[in-house]
Amino acid sequence: MTTNNPNFSENMLSVEEARNNILEMMSVLNSEHLPISKSLGHVLSEDISSIINVPPWNNSAMDGFAVIASDTNGASDVNPVNLNVIDSVYAGDMPNSKVSPNTAIRIMTGAPIPEGANAVVPFEQTNETQQKNTHQQLNTISILKPVKENDYIRFCGEDIKSGDNIFTKGTILRPSEIGVLATLGFKDIPVIRKPKIAIISTGNELTDIGEPIELGKIYDANTYSIATSVEKYGGIPIIIGIARDNEESLNALLDKALEYDILVTSAGVSKGDYDIVKNILSQRGNIEFWSVNMKPAKPIAFGWINKSKTTKLPLLGLPGNPVSAMVAFEQFVRPSILKLKGYTKLNKPSIQAILKNTIKNEDGRRMYIRVLVKKEGVDYYAEATGNQGSHVLTSMAKANGLAICPENILEIKSGQTIEVQMIDWHVDDL
Ligand code: AMP
Ligand code: MG
Repeated sequence: MTTNNPNFSENMLSVEEARNNILEMMSVLNSEHLPISKSLGHVLSEDISSIINVPPWNNSAMDGFAVIASDTNGASDVNPVNLNVIDSVYAGDMPNSKVSPNTAIRIMTGAPIPEGANAVVPFEQTNETQQKNTHQQLNTISILKPVKENDYIRFCGEDIKSGDNIFTKGTILRPSEIGVLATLGFKDIPVIRKPKIAIISTGNELTDIGEPIELGKIYDANTYSIATSVEKYGGIPIIIGIARDNEESLNALLDKALEYDILVTSAGVSKGDYDIVKNILSQRGNIEFWSVNMKPAKPIAFGWINKSKTTKLPLLGLPGNPVSAMVAFEQFVRPSILKLKGYTKLNKPSIQAILKNTIKNEDGRRMYIRVLVKKEGVDYYAEATGNQGSHVLTSMAKANGLAICPENILEIKSGQTIEVQMIDWHVDDL
């Protein structure tokens, strides 16, 4: 490093070292009770067991006729077995009658199996369709194909038995888990709460969207890419605002961030202007300026602000260049959010893809290349999305992944395989 600042580490940290240092400061948040409709992506904070059977009683898997299976023996198109239809039962009702030999009860999918019946003959195996066509309500039905005992019956407790442990603490709630919880009648459940992430952009040049732009100024992109990334990974973004490059302004905004779980700032951590951040943070907490062996996003700041004598607000200072901020977010903020939410798998999913263009890594840092991954046949192909300057955010917008050229590998040739961290999976070509 060519710097005399003692707060700059002499050696570069690896991405893993930086991430581990950050994650060490992050601990799982407390839990709360939430309506299940608000629980998507949350982690269960207690085991859940069932106090009911699912299904709650034996019921029909088809629209058809509840019968005694042996009554249908030998039934065929040419030799149908005729049964007396004595009643009908719909989903939501209870049967009023009992099936006895040579009788049948018309039954709808999900309706309880009447006493005496031990199988269901689906409409398709009867002359029901012909009856429907003629709008006749016949009281006999012709069975055209035999059924065996238990055919088309869904049994009590087949899915879940009362007393079963359904989900353990730590389960991530997806729509399927939420559906199961609803099946069991849960209205509210105990989950780890979502972290609230305070976001501050820094820089005299920044203008908030919606404001008129003056000469020399640019719009603040990072606040919005960071806030929506927070949302994407299941945190709650809290936009605090733009801090100007002076101590009063930054101090005032820091005060507003104190009540949240992590503070993410952007810019002000590169050599040009970190002094302000450093001065304030050394009075109000602690900060280290790291040089991480990655490209983009080499300068990262990490530390904390004292909230009280015993509690600290972790602070992650991302670089200002918009692509650097987003790449650093993926590597450091995303796993932090996930850890706070109680997730244990913190790595970004990655795939192996065949490179469509040669990548040169001149200074041998770990390089994250914006690529568009497409599936062609059985293989994934990755193509760089153009200008890889850390200020060129449109090449991030065109990408669905970050290809990783490892440290000290100076070139990966077109046609060779490369690891790609997937940022998005829902792209038409995949
Ligand atoms: P800095 O880290 O303050 O030296 O900023 C590096 C580069 O990122 C400069 O060109 C800044 O203008 C730009 N930049 C910083 N913050 C933002 C932001 N919030 N939105 C867009 N560009 C930014
Ligand atoms: Mg700046």
